[in-house]
Amino acid sequence: MSAVPQERRIVTAIPGPKSQELQARRSATVAGGVGSVLPVFTTRAGGGIVEDVDGNRLIDFGSGIAVTSVGASAEAVVRRASAQLQDFTHTCFMVTPYEGYVEVCEQLAELTPGDHAKKSALFNSGAEAVENAVKIARAYTKRTAVVVFDHGYHGRTNLTMGMTAKNMPYKHGFGPFAPEIYRVPVAYGYRWPTGADNAGAEASAQAIDMINKQIGAENVAAIIIEPVLGEGGFIEPAKGFLPAISKFATDNGIVFVADEIQSGFCRTGQWFACEDEGVVPDLITTAKGIAGGLPLAAVTGRAEIMDAPHSGGLGGTYGGNPVACAAALGAIETMKELDLNGKAKRIEEVMKGRLAAMAEKHDVIGDIRGRGAMIAIELVESGTKDGAKTPNAAAAAALAKACHQEGLLVLTCGTYGNVLRFLPPLVIGEDLLNEGLDIIESAFAGI
Ligand SMILES: *Cc1c(COP(=O)(O)O)cnc(C)c1O
Repeated sequence: MSAVPQERRIVTAIPGPKSQELQARRSATVAGGVGSVLPVFTTRAGGGIVEDVDGNRLIDFGSGIAVTSVGASAEAVVRRASAQLQDFTHTCFMVTPYEGYVEVCEQLAELTPGDHAKKSALFNSGAEAVENAVKIARAYTKRTAVVVFDHGYHGRTNLTMGMTAKNMPYKHGFGPFAPEIYRVPVAYGYRWPTGADNAGAEASAQAIDMINKQIGAENVAAIIIEPVLGEGGFIEPAKGFLPAISKFATDNGIVFVADEIQSGFCRTGQWFACEDEGVVPDLITTAKGIAGGLPLAAVTGRAEIMDAPHSGGLGGTYGGNPVACAAALGAIETMKELDLNGKAKRIEEVMKGRLAAMAEKHDVIGDIRGRGAMIAIELVESGTKDGAKTPNAAAAAALAKACHQEGLLVLTCGTYGNVLRFLPPLVIGEDLLNEGLDIIESAFAGI
């Protein structure tokens, strides 16, 4: 376990004086377009704690956006990455290869859904993985159209910005976007006009009708969806939606891609969130949780699809860096040894129980959802629980601020900015988890 003491400790205002000094230096030299949720400058992190330059220790319900599932200084990650640093930092896999890359691809073949022959290619970031999944699907199908969904998030590069639904802050002023991207409805149960029970069947029928009528299924290379939508608000597509879309893709020769960059690697209590309904994607994109904090991403999928691009058509200078691969092997080892799927399920049980009790008292909580350690509350105007469900972004911002002041790091998300999301490291102690929930409970008193 981590050397960072697993105790919350608040000794200054948040952010404290040293963080404020650093923030002033930062403002003078770091581009303004790069934001920070909470400008406390980190010195150490591990387990469920982030420690700052002023000596404060914050409870971490963010994991650096679902990255440090094994903690930010997991023993096996540090050990394996350090050993690799001593041996060599880089050769470029496209110049002279190394074993770690192959081992990561072997692990991906073993852990991802389906028992078909699989291959992988490694990259540096989630956006790059999504871009490459599109390249591979286009090369395989010799088609061009890409279908994405309402509330979807796929990254910040030009192609993935176009695939992302939300304008502000991701796309505004950054166009023009790549062509041949089409957006269709998703089964957002809480906001589906005829109710959550109908959402799966109705939304999939609408999406399929749009694809047939507006694009033509025979023109579609790939359908790409997050099995639990992340930035869009931790939306679990209503039951039946993913299987219907996946079947439609298969029936029409379309590559079905699960973007598991946020939901993958034990985050939802399964290795991959699409397993929940037994969906086996043709391709799966991973990043975030894969390497315990080091930059690594992958596209994994059916061997015949992955092999469609010509030799030399995929790659990148740093893709599958040896230190990042060593870290990934350490992270995966940790997930298996500590049964982090089991830990994620336990986190869900504790969180949902406590949040349900809070919802009894506070009707700004319109919805509690998510799976494993990917849990969110959607906030609405008071008194509209069964009515208008008017998004309450101000409540989300106020709650997040109140939590930050008390030393609990939480994040917001959602198309309407009204979702408070919880992504604790899966290794967080249950005492810290409950202390964090106590802080959330108290925060409701102040809004
Ligand atoms: C974060 C994320 C991405 C982009 O990953 P980066 O590493 O930030 O490029 C893509 N898809 C999903 C679902 C994500 O959550």
